[in-house]
Amino acid sequence: MSVLSLARPELLGLKAYSSARMEAGRAMVMLNANEAPALPFASDMLGLNRYPDPQPRALIEALATVYGAPATRVFVGRGSDEAIDLLTRAFCRAGQDAVLVSPPTFGMYAVAAGVQGARVISEPLVADTDFRLDIDRLIAAALAAPVKLVYVCTPNNPTGSLVPLADIERLAAALVGRALVVVDEAYLEYAGTESAVDLIDRYAHLCVLRTLSKAYALAGARLGALIAHEDIIGLVRRIMAPYPLPTPCVDAAHKALAVRAEHQARIVATSRERDRVYAALVSNPGIRRVWPSRANFLTFQVGDAKGVWTELAEQGVLIRDVSHYLKLDGGLRVTIGSPQENDQFLASVGRAVC
Ligand SMILES: *Cc1c(COP(=O)(O)O)cnc(C)c1O
Repeated sequence: MSVLSLARPELLGLKAYSSARMEAGRAMVMLNANEAPALPFASDMLGLNRYPDPQPRALIEALATVYGAPATRVFVGRGSDEAIDLLTRAFCRAGQDAVLVSPPTFGMYAVAAGVQGARVISEPLVADTDFRLDIDRLIAAALAAPVKLVYVCTPNNPTGSLVPLADIERLAAALVGRALVVVDEAYLEYAGTESAVDLIDRYAHLCVLRTLSKAYALAGARLGALIAHEDIIGLVRRIMAPYPLPTPCVDAAHKALAVRAEHQARIVATSRERDRVYAALVSNPGIRRVWPSRANFLTFQVGDAKGVWTELAEQGVLIRDVSHYLKLDGGLRVTIGSPQENDQFLASVGRAVC
């Protein structure tokens, strides 16, 4: 049985928009896309008179190498946000199907479901064990409703907690023919643990999300990858926007991926800074709790989250108030910045909580 038996049936017969750039690549005389023949006026804008390749081969191959997957299993979108949206639209029938999330977690899963008219079912993380994912309860929840997408965010935003690969595999094994397992690895570089991509060989219904927004410092370029079985990639390509990737963003991605060793060094430095900030927060008696994190942020608990957030903002330090998230009462999330920024944050938080 193909994994596409889980997709919205009405999409399987849908004919994809066939763009001029898809039908034919590049030639000497390009008169097939109603583009302007003239080059843009500024020299750093060369080539922008042409529509971009919808799924540029070279970028897909570069990402496939970085993420350890065959190029046939890579889709590039405008951030992983777009991949989340496309998966939701491809698999969830409005008013009928559901997605399963484990709060406190990334908000976009529920937003994309809401836009599509899919129900959001929650199976919360276990708060008293540093937000572990209870796989048995997650499986039971997925099987008890018409769930099509089960999200596993590892490391999880905003708790920073990891889900072991063995747990992800157990979840996938239990959901064959029932639901996709979507593993969001937006922060995996900072954890230094193994990706779930190799599981796709055995579980065609497992997808992995990666992004250049965090470890590759390219949030402004909006580039993320969906790594999935060829059938899923084919379906997503059928419903994607005609030209999702702006040429300057694709160029920026190539530049970032060309200096992987430099990025790796920065990731190591950020992880070290995270551990330093963690230690400093833990030793602050005004802070009730700091959750251990494998990502590039830390979530901690104070008595008056709104008050501390406001005081920091007044001192020019912006952090994220996550106190309204499930089981994160008094929670604040701080992103690990430069050593100087982190020092400034620590000084401000020291003044705010004492
Ligand atoms: C930041 C983040 C992403 C990445 O989103 P992009 O659209 O690629 O910028 C994905 N998932 C989680 C959990 C995130 O925190």
